[in-house]
Amino acid sequence: MRKIDLHIHTVHSDSPLTVGEVARRAKRAQVVAGICDHLSPYHKMFEPGAFDAYVADVRQHHLPVGAEYCIGEEIPVDGERLDRLDYLLGGVHAVTVDGGNYFFWGSTPPPEEEAFVESYLQATLAALAADPLDVLAHPTYLPAPFADRYEEIWTDERCAALWEAAAARDVAVEISGRWLVPRERQLRLACDFGLTFAVGSDAHRAAELFNVAYPLAVIERLGIPEERLFLPRPRPA
Ligand SMILES: [Zn+2]
Ligand SMILES: [Zn+2]
Repeated sequence: MRKIDLHIHTVHSDSPLTVGEVARRAKRAQVVAGICDHLSPYHKMFEPGAFDAYVADVRQHHLPVGAEYCIGEEIPVDGERLDRLDYLLGGVHAVTVDGGNYFFWGSTPPPEEEAFVESYLQATLAALAADPLDVLAHPTYLPAPFADRYEEIWTDERCAALWEAAAARDVAVEISGRWLVPRERQLRLACDFGLTFAVGSDAHRAAELFNVAYPLAVIERLGIPEERLFLPRPRPA
């Protein structure tokens, strides 16, 4: 199976890696590597000028150009600019609970579990129903305070709702080499919905590049065929 990594961050958001370095390493390692920097009010790329410079930089290195927006936040560029991307990832990084934002990688105390999970699920379903995303990034990821409750939280019923919504809009489900989600039981259920799957490392440093051991292993164990793996759409000539 071809080695794919479509979730790589660079200096255009919150990583010290240059696009040139990723391109060189991808060539050496023979990986289909896509750049996917944060496109959000919380990162460097929050206005059209920075977005245009980003797309130009990635294009000059002949890599697929994606971007990762924060589900629940407004995307800071218009649809015409988004169309210049080869693919768009959407990831939940915060949810609203009791009128406040709870950031997954922040340091505020966690909300009550049931309210958190419900808000997380509804935010994801709303994005799957209406946003222009191609790939759902690190689905079912849980922030540290909830991580050991993964199996109890991600029931078949909740996962079925997610996978059904992704299938309805042909949104690929990312299998994350960094966060090791979705887990195998949840992915087995996803296979029943005829979904496509995307492979990504979510690398922010050189040592994390192309770390897709978990996705490749679980893809093999579940017998997911290569034609069910997401690849960026070909650009019109
Ligand atoms: Zn993310
Ligand atoms: Zn990311």
